[in-house]
Amino acid sequence: MIKSNVQKILQELPPGIKLVAAAKTRTIDEILEAISAGVEIIGENYVQEAKEAYAKIGNKVRWHFIGHLQKNKAKKAVKVFDVIETVDSFSLAQEIDKRAKEINKTMEVLIEVNSAEEEQKSGVLPQQTRALAEEISKLENIKIKGLMTMGPLADDPEKLRPFFKKTKILFEELKILNLPRVSMQYLSMGMSDSYKVAIEEGANLVRIGTKLFGPRSYSQ
Ligand SMILES: *Cc1c(COP(=O)(O)O)cnc(C)c1O
Repeated sequence: MIKSNVQKILQELPPGIKLVAAAKTRTIDEILEAISAGVEIIGENYVQEAKEAYAKIGNKVRWHFIGHLQKNKAKKAVKVFDVIETVDSFSLAQEIDKRAKEINKTMEVLIEVNSAEEEQKSGVLPQQTRALAEEISKLENIKIKGLMTMGPLADDPEKLRPFFKKTKILFEELKILNLPRVSMQYLSMGMSDSYKVAIEEGANLVRIGTKLFGPRSYSQ
């Protein structure tokens, strides 16, 4: 099942669009099945869960952190992940930078944008994204590689289109600034229900869980 789901999505993605398999709550065997079907990037929401999966699976795939990162988990996260997609404050970036420096690593990050400007949602507000990128670009052990957004919960993916559009505009604005240590390469938008709309609006990294692994037994 997982195998054919993965193959179907991989076939259907236009060239240049990368798949992140969102693996929260999945077992190692399920993740390995997805990898054997062609998944090259695993997305994890929880550092501890990722650490365990990483210990068994290792570097044959790339690991993206897609959850909300608490500062006290930054040290572990920096060790496991290739990309942290959810940086949304300078203080979190500083902690990541400090921990990356300790292990001689340059940590690749995306800035998470709260594109719908929802209260109590993670992500930096659209109008503060540029200032945050400029600030983070001064940190020597961080490399900004792009933007990520979730958008609001919606029954119809069309409702997400304006927020994907807005994030793409920010992405292009940051690109032309040519800041040091910033290379705007990844625009991470879209999940199982919305990835097609996200790709139409410029996403080149899509984070898909349910459509690969089936429904989660509990929601997180
Ligand atoms: C769970 C999750 C996804 C995937 O969601 P699905 O609807 O299962 O495809 C994508 N991005 C983030 C940040 C997630 O937490």
